[in-house]
Amino acid sequence: MADSAKIFIVEDERPIARLLQLTLEKQGFKTAIEPNGRRAYERILQEKYDLILLDVMLPEMDGMEICRRVREVSDVPIIMLTARDEVIDKVEGLDLGADDYVTKPYDMDELLARIRGAIRRHSERVRAAEETRYVVKNMIVYPERYEVTVNGQQVELTHKEYELLKYLVENKRTVLSRDQILQTVWGYDYIGDTNVVDVYISYLRSKIDDKFGEKYIYTTRGVGYAIRD
Ligand code: CA
Repeated sequence: MADSAKIFIVEDERPIARLLQLTLEKQGFKTAIEPNGRRAYERILQEKYDLILLDVMLPEMDGMEICRRVREVSDVPIIMLTARDEVIDKVEGLDLGADDYVTKPYDMDELLARIRGAIRRHSERVRAAEETRYVVKNMIVYPERYEVTVNGQQVELTHKEYELLKYLVENKRTVLSRDQILQTVWGYDYIGDTNVVDVYISYLRSKIDDKFGEKYIYTTRGVGYAIRD
């Protein structure tokens, strides 16, 4: 993904913009160049870029203003390009929500490393935001990671305990019978004591409800168990 990413070069000094473009395209990135600040802002709103290289001093709208406005609507990675003596700009740039800054004249290898870093961090954030999770009160269950936290604290569960908890949270508020639980978590061919469900429910309660002093697992007498907010 990183190497076919599209980078928007917002820079009004043509030789600099051109050099950036040649270098980035040689590395396999797609690029677009815009020398005018206001047009750059409009293009960012209309088109999809994976990263923006943003010069500070630009005609019509400066890089700071572009960054501030873009951040109101987008979390696209932004790297500010600043002159060496624009120290205040650096600080402001980061406050405005830029991901990083590079001072001119910049080292190309360092710039490339920062570009790749910013794109990678962004795609990690997107992945994390898309990850399936179940939230019940202060408990979060991450089914893909086999992880569960309560109050931000990791809870250590065995594989079966986790499978049982996952089944309960996937069916939040639904009362599940012992048979349903047994068939789903232990399988149709399970031969053994049906009390195993009650035993594992008690394990979960001691590791979650009792440990954190909050009720998560409810019993419906004669029917089964449910997890509720
Ligand atoms: Ca400039």
